This record gives sequence, C-alpha cells and structure tokens, in this order.
Amino acid sequence: MKKPVYLDNAATTPLLKEVYDKMAPYFMESFANPMTYMYSSLGLEAFKALEQARHQAANLINAQAENIVFTGSGTESDNMAIKGVAFKKKKGHIITSKFEHHAVLHTVEALKRHGFSATFVDIDKDGFVDLNQIEDSIKQDTILISIMHANNEIGTIQPIEQISKLAHSRGILFHTDAVQSCAHIEIDVQKIGCDFLSISAHKFNGPKGVGFLYIKDKDSIYPLIDGGAQEWGLRSSTHNMPGIVGLGVACEIAQKNLTSQKERLANLRDYFLNQLIINLDGVSINGSMKNRLPQNLNVQIDGINNDSLLVGLNKYGVIAAGGSACTATDTVPSHVLVALGLTPAQANSSVRFSFGVQNSQEEIDYALENVIKLVKKFRALRG
Ligand code: PLP
Repeated sequence: MKKPVYLDNAATTPLLKEVYDKMAPYFMESFANPMTYMYSSLGLEAFKALEQARHQAANLINAQAENIVFTGSGTESDNMAIKGVAFKKKKGHIITSKFEHHAVLHTVEALKRHGFSATFVDIDKDGFVDLNQIEDSIKQDTILISIMHANNEIGTIQPIEQISKLAHSRGILFHTDAVQSCAHIEIDVQKIGCDFLSISAHKFNGPKGVGFLYIKDKDSIYPLIDGGAQEWGLRSSTHNMPGIVGLGVACEIAQKNLTSQKERLANLRDYFLNQLIINLDGVSINGSMKNRLPQNLNVQIDGINNDSLLVGLNKYGVIAAGGSACTATDTVPSHVLVALGLTPAQANSSVRFSFGVQNSQEEIDYALENVIKLVKKFRALRG
C-alpha cells in the first residue's frame, strides 16, 4: 500500500493520470490562444478544445454549453455570481447562510462594506437551513439568495430546489455553491432551476486553479474582470487551456463513474464510521447522515484535540482534516461547527474524513487502525 493514505479529499483531490495526459499537449504543442481561431489553424485547434470542454462541463450538470463560463476557481465563481449581481443591481439585500464557505461569506461581508445589506440564516442541529427562515428574511429589496448545495465540512445537502423556487416566486435570483457536491452527486440545473451554480475542478480529480460558473441568463450580472472580452465579456483574460481541457475531461470521467463511485464511497465511509463506533466510546457524528455527501464524514471524538490527532496520524502517513483547508491555519473553532451548535471544545475535538476515488479498502483499514490506536493512546495519557 502506498502512503500517505489521503482522507482529505474535500480539501483537494489528486489529478487523474488520464486527465493529466489530456492536458499535457496544451502546455507546449497546442499552445495557441483559442481566440486566434479566425486566422490560425493552431488557434482553431485550441478553440475546438475549449468548446469541447465547455460541452463536457455542461453535460455534467445538464446545462447548455453557452451557459458555462470558465473561471479561475470555485472562489472566483462565487465572487462572480454574488458581486456580479450586486454590481448589476447597484444596491439591495442578500440572503445567505452562516455555514457557507468563506468564498461566499467573505464576499457578502465585503459587499456589506460597500453599502449592501445581508442576512445570514442559521442552520439547525442536523446541518440544514430552514426554508421558513429564508422566507422570513426576504425583504422588498432582496436581490439574491445564495445557499450552498452541500457543506464542505459536514457534507449536508441543502434543499436547493425548494430554495430556488422560493426565490423565483419572489422575483429574486438564486445562486448555489456546488463546489463540494459537483461530480459526487447528480446535479441537474434544469431541475434545480438556479440562476448561478459554482464549480471547481480540483474537487473531482481535475486540475487546481480552474472552475466554472453556470449562468442561466448572462444579462443578469456585470463582469468582475474587464479586458479582452473572452467568455462573452464576462471573464476576460487569455484562457487557461491546459486547465480548461483538464476540467472538461475530469467532468466526463466523473459523470461516467458517478453512480458507482457514489455507492463505493458511501460504503467505505459507512464502514469507517461503524468501525470507529465499535472500537471507541464517545464518537458522535456532526451533521445528519441523511442527505449527506457520500464521501464525507465529520465526527467528534470525546477527549481528543483534533490538532494532536491530525499531527499524530500524519506521522503514520494518514492525512485527514480538522475543518476546511482554507481555515486550517485559524486557531478559532470552525464557523460551520459553531453554526451547528457545537461548543468550541466540541468543535476542536472534531475531525473530517473525506474519501476519494483513489482510496481502497486496505487504506481505510490502515487509517482506522491508526485512528483507534492514537485516540486510545491520547486518552490514556490524559488519564
Ligand atoms: N466553495 C466550497 C464549498 C469549497 O469547499 C471550496 C474549496 O474548498 C471553495 C468554494 C473554493 O474553491 P477553490 O478552492 O476552487 O477556490
């Protein structure tokens, strides 16, 4: 078995070899700028690859290719949707939740500093937003509701179809951050009915630094980046061709394997959880196990400091996480777990294990053995 055993796939995933192989020619051989297709055969080759990736991305979420705008990341996609609507509307109120990723939370907070108002709705003890609270938060000047599809720390899947319907019944645009859910569970933008949906390739074995935003109506936002008018003028700058090609291939592979991987990862995850519960006292789950991403597990382990456990595991070649990778250097407890109602001590005894396509049963058994061993050791030291 190769080490490390990587159980932090919510932070990022390894690039698949098939994806890398398809990306490689776009660094040196097929290096042309796709926007030169009118006069250059090399440019035309790049342009065709760009449009193929757009179709691959669109297929994954049942969209039309012309509704896919390539971006530099999930963070950028979130910013593009939220600030794009705000810039277009010029003023107004935004509704989001307390447990969004910082790419959404900090974007909304930044807009507050520029004169917009915002409501951050709660989540319940199981990790779900409450539709009634969202409805009660709607004001006359509400311009956008942004609620994530699935949470990055606890994996709970939000009722976004209903939220989308609610938003539209009141003439409000709806954005969802699907960075964690995309390619792991089915996403159908026609069914969801959302106006915007954010995606990032590195969360499903594609390259880092590339994502896309699904936009139902391109007139509903102003661009964040002005320049040479690529991507219908919504995201100027020369295309990151290796990244975009890699994103497209990763979408196609994920789509092909989605059903089987979903079941396989849920089985590995459930096995891991059951073994933890059988072998250790004081293990409780953060967030509901129903309506949860198949690859996510977040558990509190009584009497354990998550930092010590993670450092200990790392020594044995097992990598897991305390919370979101973006806040891994923070000393404050996870805002998601606090929103869920955990005390700082409970949050600091919580560990996220997130499983990926590369994980085998042997790896899971090795990780379990070491988690159980270390928890017992730390508890014995505490006396
Ligand atoms: N949104 C969610 C839910 C995420 O989990 C992440 C990454 O962790 C992001 C947005 C940001 O994506 P990126 O790393 O591509 O900027």
